[in-house]
Order: sequence, then structure tokens, then C-alpha cells
Amino acid sequence: MRIHIIHNPKAGKLLGNVGEELILALIHQGHRVSYYPTTGNMDAAKEAKKQCDLQEVDLILAAGGDGTLNEVTNGIMYSEKKLPIAPFAGGTSNDFCSYLKLPDNPQEYARYLTKKAKPHCIDIGKVGQRYFINVVACGMLSEVAHKTDSQLKSVLGSFAYYIEGLKEIITRGLYNNIEVQSKDFHYKGEFVVFLVSNSHTIGGFKNLAPDASINDGYLNVLLIKKAPFVNLLDIAMNLDKGAHVSNPYVDYFTTKDLCVITDSQMDVDGEHLFYQKSNIQVIAGELECYY
Ligand SMILES: [Mg+2]
Repeated sequence: MRIHIIHNPKAGKLLGNVGEELILALIHQGHRVSYYPTTGNMDAAKEAKKQCDLQEVDLILAAGGDGTLNEVTNGIMYSEKKLPIAPFAGGTSNDFCSYLKLPDNPQEYARYLTKKAKPHCIDIGKVGQRYFINVVACGMLSEVAHKTDSQLKSVLGSFAYYIEGLKEIITRGLYNNIEVQSKDFHYKGEFVVFLVSNSHTIGGFKNLAPDASINDGYLNVLLIKKAPFVNLLDIAMNLDKGAHVSNPYVDYFTTKDLCVITDSQMDVDGEHLFYQKSNIQVIAGELECYY
């Protein structure tokens, strides 16, 4: 195949020379490879759209974290002539690749892409005019995910989120307001975490949206409302197992679209954006993805 790598060389700096290793490993597997290192915000999106318009390659390999993957997805979706995407986990936060259980070693990945991976038409989401491949989140979890330093995150794993999150709640009473409206659901009030997810892996948690699937034509919505501390603790301790969804202060459902009004920042595949009022919808089966 003719593979064009769009790589964020600043993502996951500690991983060595990922770009070079990927290029060599893919050439070794018999592919024709071109390479583009990104330099700034939305550069990956522009490059992906350009490649789609040109149609000179067969596949765009997005190497970086969830943010890079988000930009490449947007670039592809905004082109009239879409190319398939192949995500490679090359960042500090790789929720989507980890949901797909993709190898994160360049040599193994090149073998996997060549011998095992197949193209699948997957769902993505759209918030306002921005596409997302994994999740739109707001409230404490996304605040905490941005605040928790990555060293602490890698040492403690998801436990770092509990500690930081609960600390925030106890010390500051960090609640935001939200109004959520969908076909069968309405809530207006204070909340702790709200997310609309395509996959089930969010912020390192593998079961945050327990049965979410990128092939079912629906988005999964999780709302953790303001709750007494013991209930928040119970929710936090059950996040890893996915048992938090049965807590009485948690709403969990699937939908094709919804409207959200909030005073909290939104985290779109790991990037902070501000939408006071937003429509969120599923775009079913429109992105071709290799996994
Ligand atoms: Mg789904």
C-alpha cells in the first residue's frame, strides 16, 4: 500500500524516534511510505484533508495521541474524497488505540497493519462542527485529566484520577451546571462528569462507558450527577469494573443525538474547547478505519 504517515513528533517524547521506526518497519513490510511531521495546532487536520483531496496514497496513518487522531479524522471528514485512517498509539494518551487493542511498538504495528488489520466503516461523533473519534467530556474528569501531571498518571495509572478528582471535590466542591436533552432524556442541574463516548475507553479507564461500540450507530452517554460524598466514592471505586453505571446518581444510555448546555469546558478527544450550547450527534459508519 501507499501509506502516508502524519506524525506528531512532540507527542509521547519518551518513546524514542517513533517516526523513523514506523517508516522503516512499514518499508520492511513492502509498503511505499511518505512522512509528514506536524508542527502546530490543526496542522494534522490540514495535511489529512490535503492528502484526501490529492488521492495519491491509499491510507493515512495517524501517529500521535488522541489529539492527533482527532485532527486527522477532521481533515478526512472535511474532504469530499475520504481516505481510510490507521491509528497508531504514539502519544501519552491513546484511548482510542487502546480500545482497538492495537500494538504500540512500531515493528509489531507494521506487521499487524500488513497481515491482520482490515478496513472497517466505523461511527464517529460530531459536536458543533468538530468531529470526534473517541469522546466529548466535561466536568471534573476532563479538568482532572488535564491537571494530573503525566508522570503521576503513568506511575499510578487510573488511580491518579481518583485521588486528584476526589481531592478537588472535597476541597473545592467543584460542580458545574449542565442541561442535557435527548429524545428520551432530560436533566438540568449540577454534575460531576458528563461524557458522550464512541468507544468504551476514556481517560485510561477501560469500562467507563461499559458496552460502547464504534459499530452500533449510537453514542453512549454517561452523566454523574452531584451526589453525597459516599456515593461519589462508591462510583469512583467502581469505575474500573464498569459497575458505576448502576449507581442511583448515574445516568447511562445510548442515543443518536442530543443537545447540551453547560458552563464547563468541553474536552474533545483530549483537547479543550468551549461550547456553551452544543448539538452532539453520531455520524454512523462514515470513517474507514484499519484495525
Ligand atoms: Mg456506539
